[in-house]
Amino acid sequence: KKITIAIDGFSSTGKSTLAKQLAKHLGYVYVDSGAMYRAVTYFAMQNGCIGAEFFDKETLINSLPFIKLHFEFNTDLGFAEMYLNGVNVEKEIRTIEVSSFVSKVAEVSEVRAKLVEQQQSMGKKKGIVMDGRDIGTVVFPEAELKIFMTASPETRARRRYDELQAKGENVTFEAVLKNVEERDHIDTHRDDSPLVKAVGAIEIDNSALTREEQFEEVLSLVSK
Ligand code: C5P
Repeated sequence: KKITIAIDGFSSTGKSTLAKQLAKHLGYVYVDSGAMYRAVTYFAMQNGCIGAEFFDKETLINSLPFIKLHFEFNTDLGFAEMYLNGVNVEKEIRTIEVSSFVSKVAEVSEVRAKLVEQQQSMGKKKGIVMDGRDIGTVVFPEAELKIFMTASPETRARRRYDELQAKGENVTFEAVLKNVEERDHIDTHRDDSPLVKAVGAIEIDNSALTREEQFEEVLSLVSK
């Protein structure tokens, strides 16, 4: 019987790696909810709603009806890519710039309401793995399996830094660590759906786990 799997946790805890592995193994659909917050953030940047020293929330809120998001499965990559108003923005949404603004955009209740609604409608069909910050608490409180992933800020910043380096992004480790810590703070302190461990969630600290160990551990929970 197909189930709903909710994976939450801090940034760069390897949620998406695990979620993709699980979806592939189980033949489930994987949904990266963070990509949706990132796409809205990219839209806000492109339309002059957010920058280093300003955030025009009102214009962003008024623009929400014109932001159309969808995922399209890429068979070569083996996962779905994010589209914003019909355009593939998978690369654009992964920059450090988007990362530095996304938590502010995710604090806006109207943004959350819109994205949560779309996520819930995607979840009507069982056999889904979704990762994010509020999946077990808000999006799918009834999920059969909820995972809460943690790892030390340094471990996470190191992973993120390596990823960005591999993509040729010009950043320092200190800048990445600062971004990770800032996002943790905003994510855990926002009024609307702060990042917390959901009731019934199983916590996995993967600082010392390999991808394979982590995968095996979670897979054993699926079949329980
Ligand atoms: O998972 P990822 O790091 O790509 O998410 C980017 C940001 O989007 C997070 O730092 C968080 O602020 C926001 N987010 C959220 N709720 C989710 C997923 C992501 O607020 N379900």
